[in-house]
Amino acid sequence: MSPSKVAPFCFDTFYNVVDGKTRTAKTAHRGINPMTLEELWPVPVATQQDVDDAVAAGMRAFPAWRDTPIEKRKELLGKFAELFSAYADDFLSLLCQETGKPRPFAAMETNGVQKLIQAHQDFELPVEKIEDDEKVITTTYTPLGVVGAICPWNFPITLSMGKVVPALLTGNVVIVKPSPFTPYTALKYIELAQQIFPRGVVQALGGDDRLGPMFTAHPDIAKISFTGSIATGKKVMEASAKTLKRVTLELGGNDACIVFPDVDVAKVAPEVAMGAFFNSGQVCVATKRIYIHEKIYKDFVAAMVEFAKKLKVGASDEEGVMLGPVQNAMQYERVKGFFADSKEKNHTFAHGEPDVAGSKGYFIQPTIIDNPPHDSRIIQEEPFGPIVPTQPWSDLDEIIQRANNTKAGLGASVWAKDVAQAEACAKRLEAGNVFVNSYVKPNPKAFFSGHKESGIGGEYGTKGLLSYCNAHVMHSYKL
Ligand code: NAD
Repeated sequence: MSPSKVAPFCFDTFYNVVDGKTRTAKTAHRGINPMTLEELWPVPVATQQDVDDAVAAGMRAFPAWRDTPIEKRKELLGKFAELFSAYADDFLSLLCQETGKPRPFAAMETNGVQKLIQAHQDFELPVEKIEDDEKVITTTYTPLGVVGAICPWNFPITLSMGKVVPALLTGNVVIVKPSPFTPYTALKYIELAQQIFPRGVVQALGGDDRLGPMFTAHPDIAKISFTGSIATGKKVMEASAKTLKRVTLELGGNDACIVFPDVDVAKVAPEVAMGAFFNSGQVCVATKRIYIHEKIYKDFVAAMVEFAKKLKVGASDEEGVMLGPVQNAMQYERVKGFFADSKEKNHTFAHGEPDVAGSKGYFIQPTIIDNPPHDSRIIQEEPFGPIVPTQPWSDLDEIIQRANNTKAGLGASVWAKDVAQAEACAKRLEAGNVFVNSYVKPNPKAFFSGHKESGIGGEYGTKGLLSYCNAHVMHSYKL
């Protein structure tokens, strides 16, 4: 039976959560609804004292949580999934307001919580044994302690939960720091989680950009699991080095997509476009460079344009909306910079240049830039918005080299009727997550990581669980 809602639990007051209790702060900041540019609710700005208190509470909670059998930890995670589901509609509305996502797409995120937790409940921590006549060597995996989860704004529930669930399952305690742009859903679900988990096991601190460095500097945080930009990831690693913290860095990408000439253009072009425009391009593994074989280039771009024209851009609750706004002012200005650069360099806008300055709300029409030069900003950098370049190719070795010619290596996709040919090409791409005949769709059952500057370590799958653990190797000799 699902747990029912426990009253009162309101969705319009927001707190930090420390040692099982909600707490306010002297100062507050507010997120902005990106559809209306109206201010949302106040959120407390955590201080160094809040960080110290949360870490101390985490350290107190850690031994008992570490010693709780994994089956019990899984059971509590399952109970939390049910409790979250009881409030799924409230979380969905909140998520729409803080991100502007179209409601059906935001629902994928809230519905994904149960799936994420179920996938993790199926994992087992490995036990490895080497045995001979004189000894047994047993390797087990033990938790690290207090984990700091530093999160971005593009999937506020999925990406924070993707740290909380494996951290708790492996016996760590965790403090979540949501992005200041989207603090609401994470603060709320962690407040809700206090009904399930012992105090100090899962906590949350919201704040401004001073808060992340307080996490990375804290000597008693054992690991930082970070998702965000490459530039901030480097700062996190540098700061964490001072206390030799473990770090997992899930960073940006510049994903290439290679389309072979044998594809069914009408079927594949819309899929490839969705890979670029899903969540208005604000996806680390969004397709960011599309390489189409020259034999079908013209028809393929035309089919993408036809599809893109039909993608309705608008507010969460509008009927038939496929793309919401860009989430925040900083990102909106950044994406506009890519439009301005392409305009200035006289790149070809495949279906006219949209007005990106005129709307109330951070809305941008999906845009395709037709064959800009290799060294253009739109090819070289990650826009993280609904604008994508296409280029033709003819020589496979050359296009693989071009696809790999980036410091990022997060995702990639290859599309071909001849799957063996596509797989052979996919194997040569320098990226952590390569998809054949699909755009990149992370799956919590499989390890997710970036090559090169797209990250260090990774999340999801059993391998992801182990990133929250120390290896403990016991060599036991017979007397
Ligand atoms: P960001 O790097 O600006 O911020 C991420 C988080 O880091 C925020 O919570 C922020 O407050 C915090 N932060 C800022 N400065 C810090 C510091 N010095 N020390 C510690 N923490 C600090 O990233 P963003 O704009 O929120 O997210 C967009 C970026 O994230 C894109 O580049 C995208 O590709 C990447 N991303 C990667 C993945 C992945 O899994 N690889 C997933 C989503 C997003």
